[in-house]
Amino acid sequence: MRRATFKGGIHPFDGKNLSKDKPMQVVLPKGDLVYPMAQHIGAPAKPVVAVGDQVLVGQVIGEASSFISANVCSSVSGKVKAIEKRLTVSGAMAECIVVENDNEYTTVEGFGTKRDYKKMTKEEIRQTVKDAGIVGMGGAGFPTNVKITPKNDNEIDFVIVNGAECEPYLTSDYRLMLEQSQKIIDGLKIVLSLFKNAKGYISIEDNKPEAIKALQELAAAEERIEVKVLKTKYPQGSERKIIYATCGRKINSKMLPSDAGCIVNNIATIIAIYNAVSESTPVIERVVTVTGDAVAEPGNFVVRTGTNYRELVDLAGGFVSEPEKIVCGGPMMGMALYTLDVPVTKTSSALLAMVKDPVAEAETSACIRCGRCVQACPSGLVPQKMMQAIKHNDLDMFEKIHGMECYECGSCTYVCPAKVQLTQAFKLARKTVMDNRRKAQNQ
Ligand code: SF4
Ligand code: SF4
Repeated sequence: MRRATFKGGIHPFDGKNLSKDKPMQVVLPKGDLVYPMAQHIGAPAKPVVAVGDQVLVGQVIGEASSFISANVCSSVSGKVKAIEKRLTVSGAMAECIVVENDNEYTTVEGFGTKRDYKKMTKEEIRQTVKDAGIVGMGGAGFPTNVKITPKNDNEIDFVIVNGAECEPYLTSDYRLMLEQSQKIIDGLKIVLSLFKNAKGYISIEDNKPEAIKALQELAAAEERIEVKVLKTKYPQGSERKIIYATCGRKINSKMLPSDAGCIVNNIATIIAIYNAVSESTPVIERVVTVTGDAVAEPGNFVVRTGTNYRELVDLAGGFVSEPEKIVCGGPMMGMALYTLDVPVTKTSSALLAMVKDPVAEAETSACIRCGRCVQACPSGLVPQKMMQAIKHNDLDMFEKIHGMECYECGSCTYVCPAKVQLTQAFKLARKTVMDNRRKAQNQ
């Protein structure tokens, strides 16, 4: 069978064997819960509780503050202990609500009530997704209600569920595909009910045959749903690449998937949509893979948002030896952590701890113009030239050679024999260009 794919990309060591066969374990938090108000792209949520207030499981404690924003709900019942700046996974301090868990897990009224989406209007479905605080749980954190509200519903041809999980080591989506496959189908049916002309695809890389089989069996009974098998290649799961591999359409950095007739949601997000619409449950937990050669017992854990990362390490039996590198997320696009005292958010997918840090060990030398970075770039860019532009402090040139189309996947850095820190430089350059644009707009 021909496997759908894209041009460029790499095949890094995948490391998934450490945790892929470990079923999800539901665990409850031990310490205080810390909820950053910014767990999404856009404006941070606004706290709507005060210190001393009692809160319940599923209660909105932070309210979306603008169009691109999302509610934050409490994942435990207890008392609001503080509203203050705390450290988050990005390494920056951000406003957080701290809740002392009463270990009662008392829920808000209506929590868990079953509902039939077929009896709901499109507006009710979208409002439910908004109220539940659902954001892209693959890591992007874009508010889902905005994503599923394009300019014209009739122009959407494809609803894609992103089951690629192409980042090495991550297995949380894989476990969801095996253990909650029916919810994926039902969540997709809910989204398809908004777009009468659309076909639904669940796109999965071919290194997950069991997940493909489980979903193909369920999809066989569904007229509008098909499983698309993709070639295993990084970064197959990036939004632009999965759209291309699934339906052959191209988008650039200025476009939304809906501009190309597509709506894309990751596996955990589609399950969150099902939970919110059919079971009246907002986003209060997520599956996190805790893995790496420094971890004693790698596994997949269903944890409440707000849980401290240190608790995740305990769940996985602690460290076998002091890790040199800890990453929140996968090794390609994740954030290096310098402390474990940060909270799990809606976009947390993994905690990766490695005995050795290959990046820190690598010595950088001069570019030898081998062109490997060009071959690897999934966006068709010329990273070596982008780097030259940055070295000459020429951000106009960086933009001219389409540097803003880089989505920081790390493929060029991975293949570079001279160990040039290309992606890091592009990240900084892109941020500078965006900051400059913002400043110019506000003048
Ligand atoms: S891969 Fe590295 S050494 Fe080769 S051209 Fe690109 S930047 Fe230069
Ligand atoms: S980090 Fe950017 S330039 Fe490098 S391969 Fe990925 S998209 Fe291309």
